[in-house]
Amino acid sequence: MLKYYSTNGKSPSISFREALLQGQAPDKGLYMPETIPQISPEEIYTFINKSYPEIAFDVTWKFLEGEIPAEDLKKIVEEAYDYPVPLEPVYERKYILRLDQGPTASFKDFAARMMGRLMNYYLARENKQLLILTATSGDTGSAIANAFYGLDNIKVLVLFPEKEVTLRQRKQMTTLGKNVEVISVEGKFDDCQALVKEAFADPDLLHLNLSSANSINIGRLIPQIVYYFYAFARLRVGNPDDDVIFSVPSGNFGDMMGGVLAMKMGLPVWRFIIAVNENDEFPNYLGTGNYMKVVPSRNCISSAMNVGHPSNLARLVALYGGKMDEKGQMSAQADLHTMRKELFAVSITDEETRRTIIDTWNMHNVLLEPHGAVGWAGLMAYLNEEGKDMDKDQLCISLETAHPAKFPEEIDKLLGIDPPLPPSLQGIESKTEVFGKMKNSYEEFRERLKEE
Ligand SMILES: *Cc1c(COP(=O)(O)O)cnc(C)c1O
Repeated sequence: MLKYYSTNGKSPSISFREALLQGQAPDKGLYMPETIPQISPEEIYTFINKSYPEIAFDVTWKFLEGEIPAEDLKKIVEEAYDYPVPLEPVYERKYILRLDQGPTASFKDFAARMMGRLMNYYLARENKQLLILTATSGDTGSAIANAFYGLDNIKVLVLFPEKEVTLRQRKQMTTLGKNVEVISVEGKFDDCQALVKEAFADPDLLHLNLSSANSINIGRLIPQIVYYFYAFARLRVGNPDDDVIFSVPSGNFGDMMGGVLAMKMGLPVWRFIIAVNENDEFPNYLGTGNYMKVVPSRNCISSAMNVGHPSNLARLVALYGGKMDEKGQMSAQADLHTMRKELFAVSITDEETRRTIIDTWNMHNVLLEPHGAVGWAGLMAYLNEEGKDMDKDQLCISLETAHPAKFPEEIDKLLGIDPPLPPSLQGIESKTEVFGKMKNSYEEFRERLKEE
């Protein structure tokens, strides 16, 4: 059975089940698999004829074998992945992998839906209940709420700042009901986050079995390995030497970590492009070897990537033999030489992001939103710099992490069109909302929690 170690090195290694239910390690490190399971070229070849859930089973089984019966894992991936995963051709063998067809039209659905079901599986067997507390500025809350909706052993409580969430974002959370409770707070996102943090540290609330489901949970990382295998299997040609370049629009680096793990498992990746917005701490680090957070983080139109210190960076550093704590302090340098060979990091300005949305639409009739545009611009930068002599048929895949219809104002301003809503978001405006209201007060929050 695979064990998971903490990147801070002060907590003992534990099983997947424990790491999943714990989230962060007691020493504040992040859990990582002690060894990276391998998938042989022959097995990757069999993925050509498999469905997304089948590939999801094969890949995640390598991490979960011994922790869940195969039949139960099969059921979980079939339930979690019941929506399409399109690969849209752009030109030559350059593609967009659209991860925007899930219930909240964000790539976060992939991880959250599987993590929720895995948690529920273990809780049900142990006859336990869990309360997920989440503060959101919009997208994470709806992805978590939707992913955990209807699960018997988990309740979800989402706090959102009353004035900082769009109507569409709010309705994605407040029209669910059942085990999802939503409260608006008279305050800002940071206030919501502070309330949640205080609750986690409150000894009087221990009996509630609180959990956060945030992006550092190993249960969110492992499902994000799958779509890299899937995309390559769908697009590879018969040639056994075929390889692929991925470009990943990145914020907290969870998505990109899934990709790098796929590569370390045996996926033939020629290069990973890590495309960030104006928060350029990682490209600077890769260039100089000196890590400096961006404080405060810069506000860009790819708002889900406004991160000045990626929470998953410690995992990447660990994978390359270094050590970084939760504050971003490095006590051992990563193998920069290998990192630079395998990764290409690039920072894209808002102006370049907007230009990319206009250009891909005009030149290729492909519609991107700001996050996906950062990824595509990163790919173009790589092909113009290091990839100049590359075969024009080199397979390249850039990830689109949200649906353009989630950014109607920006798209309308740039292209003069109103992107059609994906099926999952249609009709949401007319649904009835239910949500509570609360002052920005921990006392009030605590009383509410005690009633749970
Ligand atoms: C969260 C998010 C990202 C960034 O993903 P990370 O795993 O944090 O790097 C990119 N695009 C969208 C739309 C997101 O919601």
